Amino acid sequence: MYKLAEYQSIDAELKAIEQELSANEDRKKGIAAKKFLDTVNDSLAELDRKAAEFDNAYTKYTETFRKLSETQKEFDNVFEEYSGEDEINFVKKKAQELVDELKRLEKLINHLKEEILSITEQYNTLKKKTMAAQKQFKESGQKYTEFKASKAKAQEEIQVRLKALEKDIDPQALSLYKQRRADKIFPILYEYAGAGFCPHCRTEISKLAESNLSKSGIIVCDNCGRILYNNK
Ligand SMILES: [Zn+2]
Repeated sequence: MYKLAEYQSIDAELKAIEQELSANEDRKKGIAAKKFLDTVNDSLAELDRKAAEFDNAYTKYTETFRKLSETQKEFDNVFEEYSGEDEINFVKKKAQELVDELKRLEKLINHLKEEILSITEQYNTLKKKTMAAQKQFKESGQKYTEFKASKAKAQEEIQVRLKALEKDIDPQALSLYKQRRADKIFPILYEYAGAGFCPHCRTEISKLAESNLSKSGIIVCDNCGRILYNNK
């Protein structure tokens, strides 16, 4: 058997462990919790900023409302001071404007109250979620670390077997293999039996490439980068 092919068949055991680790549910939960925790402080700060803004507006509008209400009280006694119809009409108009403005302010103030309540709720929800995520991150992190540790011995054993094979493999072919392995490509190596196309991606293999293959023993597929070897 071509040595690099034997190497790959052992490496496949290592790859299977890596896939098992990467598919581990606790690992995924930990990553999700971390992602949430990485952004939650920004979200909380944004809510804080909004709450302060609404609080300021609320204070300002309630103060204006209070002042205008006082002015309105003064209007109650003012009519007897005026005699002319024009004057009275003018004052009536002003009084109505004041009533309208007070209504408008009241609406605004009620709206702000609702906004402040809603922000408080959002803030509390986010705080609860944060605590849950912190707990999740810790728990799944611990479980995943244990799971990973349970695989370490098997991984080491495979590494030892791989290392032992390396001295029998053409260094250039091994280096090509390792580059692809680092790029998370797998399987990397395919036997080429002269079918005229790459066994992995089905791209045509030219006559020139075929002749290179019979000379050097391996070629690389132009399209998918897989290593093709000639088992003769
Ligand atoms: Zn290919």
